[in-house]
Amino acid sequence: MKEIIASIITIGDELLIGQTIDTNSAFIAQQLNSIGIRVAKRVAVGDQETAIREALDNESTYADVILLTGGLGPTADDITKPLLCDYFGGKLRRDPATLKHIEWLFNEVYKRPGALLPRNQKQADIPDNCTILHNPRGTAPGMLFQKEYRIYISMPGVPQEMKEIMTDSVIPFLQQNLKTPFIFHRTLLTAGIGESMLAEQLVNFEATLQPELKLAYLPQYGMVKLRITATGQDQLVLKQAIDSKFEELKKLVATHLVTDKDEKLEAVIGRLLSEKKATLSTAESCTGGSIASMLTSLPGSSNYFKGSIVAYANEAKEKLLMVDHSTISTYGAVSEQTAQAMATGALKQLNTTYGIAVSGIMGPDGGTTLKPVGTVWIAVANKSTTKVQCLKLGFDRQRNTHQTAISALNMLRQFMLTESQD
Ligand code: ATP
Repeated sequence: MKEIIASIITIGDELLIGQTIDTNSAFIAQQLNSIGIRVAKRVAVGDQETAIREALDNESTYADVILLTGGLGPTADDITKPLLCDYFGGKLRRDPATLKHIEWLFNEVYKRPGALLPRNQKQADIPDNCTILHNPRGTAPGMLFQKEYRIYISMPGVPQEMKEIMTDSVIPFLQQNLKTPFIFHRTLLTAGIGESMLAEQLVNFEATLQPELKLAYLPQYGMVKLRITATGQDQLVLKQAIDSKFEELKKLVATHLVTDKDEKLEAVIGRLLSEKKATLSTAESCTGGSIASMLTSLPGSSNYFKGSIVAYANEAKEKLLMVDHSTISTYGAVSEQTAQAMATGALKQLNTTYGIAVSGIMGPDGGTTLKPVGTVWIAVANKSTTKVQCLKLGFDRQRNTHQTAISALNMLRQFMLTESQD
């Protein structure tokens, strides 16, 4: 079966001067990949007619599907629509359904009743040789053109609008009209082993993978995600092959396995806490609330997460977490003793089953010979036991913070799994 190849063209001067980060391409590529279409190239061009035409000509030499975003709005620099109309030899005609939708948006959603400006009405002028892709959230619809067996799809640049058009219209259209393969993914997450060591352990496993299966290593902050992808035509055969290999993989990495689902560490923590009907609080100094932010990013987290005390200054550690003044003056704010006292302080103040505390030096300044930048103490406590760990990180401030938050959550996970055996 012939592979289907796509190209993504993103349009807008703001992309080229670094004002807007091109997140649209990433989303589109993920969506296409999930239905077995390979993105061969991503091209960004400014709001210039010649640049857009050149990109269209170039990408048309090899791609089966060409997706464009941006340049469809009501402003003068939005030149994509007339250009596409001309490129495919059509004429702009006012589309009554699109006009009605624009009127509805202005009256009912934006609450701007009254006559539409001509520039807004013009957004209902659509090339007569395209299929209109409804944009429920915005005024510029998507447009689908077909020429010489190639498919061209133009969508607005606003990420939320583009996403809905992609999932509601583009993906179903491509699946119905192109012979795309079946794709299945199975994902697991490991901790406590590096990517290279894992790869060493899995040499034989990889060698026995059928050609339709691929193993990907996705390292992230001290953890490694492993994903097996199965691509092919026979749904049943693929499903059996991937399930059987996934079970084999799980056994091989069992001692480091965090979860056998495609989920984040905070979701694993949430599930463990819920199963134990337990609650959690955090005392955060150097992470400034990042751990709490990760936990509360999940809906339903209020069932097990009670809150965080962000105690950055020593004074706050003493007042809010009841850490003894003498502990800090004797051992320092970044110490095993202070981290321990912070964890038990959070546990008591917020009356939870478990408490996590972190205190460290994230950089770039503030390090000493004894405690260099990257020194972090983490403590995890329940009502009877406290465990501590010292990290020596060597990244920049942002990455040190994120790595600390992940390490603290993973330490809690291990604490919960082993506490009954202590
Ligand atoms: P409209 O003019 O109606 O807002 P449009 O299709 O003309 O829509 P643009 O003007 O190009 O789109 O961009 C609209 C918004 O979307 C801008 O805020 C822009 O920064 C953002 N945007 C455009 N392209 C991308 C992209 N590739 N990734 C992320 N955001 C983007």
